[in-house]
Amino acid sequence: MKSKRRKKHSDQKYYLSPDLKEKSIWFRRRLRVWFKKNHRNFPWRDNKRTPYEVLIAEIMLRQTKADTVARLYPVFLAKYPDFLHLSKASVEELQEIIKPLGLWRQRAPIFLNIAKLVVENNGELPSTREELQDINHIGQYITSVILTTFHGKSEAFIDVNTARVVDRFFGPRKTVDIRYDPYLKAVACSIVKSRHESLLLNWAILDFAALVCKAPIPLCSICPMKPRCLYFKELQVKISNE
Ligand code: SF4
Repeated sequence: MKSKRRKKHSDQKYYLSPDLKEKSIWFRRRLRVWFKKNHRNFPWRDNKRTPYEVLIAEIMLRQTKADTVARLYPVFLAKYPDFLHLSKASVEELQEIIKPLGLWRQRAPIFLNIAKLVVENNGELPSTREELQDINHIGQYITSVILTTFHGKSEAFIDVNTARVVDRFFGPRKTVDIRYDPYLKAVACSIVKSRHESLLLNWAILDFAALVCKAPIPLCSICPMKPRCLYFKELQVKISNE
């Protein structure tokens, strides 16, 4: 697929200390148990979904609540079941359909441009990080989702929610831009690294961030991670000093 825009991405490595590695394994064990009982069901998590369907969901989920996306998603897919149908839509028609998501003016051309580009290139999304990230508006997060869901990779889905959980539990990230923080990437990858469970573990972090380690105020009192959480420890010290 032809490059539309070369995106910068950090190849800088961060090596986790043995303590952090052990802590990430502890976190993963608890996360897995928590997820079994508390996972959220969304239509885009169906394991029969195509790369097109997952990509559409991920673009919709940007800056929009999952419940709002879940309502519109089936309507959208019924009208545009694949890249070909979507590529033939008009911007106005698309804007009308995606209005409930918000940001419809920005999002409609994104859908359309990606669909046209994919149709021009044999109708399939590429399968490497470099090629995927070369497509405008498929950033590192969506690339990680596609590679993990469809190409057997074990990538961390790093967004503000994952970053918040890592910040609080393991300690603050090192850079402002979460896309280029090698520490954040190393911790998140350590949690989700798995031959068979990477996708589930990524969903688990997202659900945990949405339901327990929430923004702006986390629900520490019901959190299974609190025995080893830095944020919770600091909170306890603060309370005892008051
Ligand atoms: S104890 Fe609180 S801050 Fe720490 S991971 Fe749990 S919810 Fe988040």
